[in-house]
Amino acid sequence: MRWIGRRESGNVEDRRGSGGGGLAVGGGIGTVVIAIIVYLLGGDPTQITQNTGIDQTASQPVDPANDEAGRFVKVVLADTEDVWTKLFADQGQTYPKPVLVLFRGGTSSGCGMASAASGPFYCPADEKLYIDLSFYDELRERFNAPGDFAMAYVIAHEVGHHIQHQLGLTDQVDRARGRVSREQYNRMSVRLELQADFLAGVWAHHAQKMKNILEQGDIEEAMAAAGAIGDDRIQEQTQGHVNPESFTHGSSAQRVYWFKKGFQTGDMKQGDTFNSREDANLQ
Ligand SMILES: [Zn+2]
Repeated sequence: MRWIGRRESGNVEDRRGSGGGGLAVGGGIGTVVIAIIVYLLGGDPTQITQNTGIDQTASQPVDPANDEAGRFVKVVLADTEDVWTKLFADQGQTYPKPVLVLFRGGTSSGCGMASAASGPFYCPADEKLYIDLSFYDELRERFNAPGDFAMAYVIAHEVGHHIQHQLGLTDQVDRARGRVSREQYNRMSVRLELQADFLAGVWAHHAQKMKNILEQGDIEEAMAAAGAIGDDRIQEQTQGHVNPESFTHGSSAQRVYWFKKGFQTGDMKQGDTFNSREDANLQ
């Protein structure tokens, strides 16, 4: 991705040097709440409940001269701001820009404690994205999805959840909880996740059009990441078998399908993952 020297977003709250590492995650209500949220937004909640300590390196200050990953995230966030501001304006609306919180180890969020193990997530309650940059390494090492655009896709996916929140979709799925069967609710959560992938693709389409950001292999990097962190792959890695009933993100093939569709069309109207059957054979 071509990003060096481009605008960096000012909507970043950098908590990496603020000593968040002193906070202990020891179970309790906070952990339960964040586990639920992470489950809703596409993370693996068992990662949180298993995680009992927080990285004590968290309070080391960040050297701004040596913070390439931080600058990269700020440029990608700025790109999402520019694209979504335009797409909202096209509909006669104002895009409320989310804040991105960079943290190391652990930090508090409007949705409870955030930890590195929970992976990047979006909290609708405070409209902030939470990212521990160690996920960058995890993409490369655990998920075998290297490349800067893999990380850009992850950020764009979380911004996709922010868009869904603005459109009232997150609330609709939330309200269905308890009123529909657990199976149906799981299915809705999957459709929400796939739509966030679609919205990440829509972002990439327009960012390319507006700024010519893509380099050779970038889209493949994003699709590799979408495929690598699909529930079927994660389950195979952690349980040794695949159980479609418990998918919360969608299968790898579905995630790739929706990201690609968003990227190819750039058209918000093509992204009704809730009612579409077009990916039914991709399970
Ligand atoms: Zn998600």
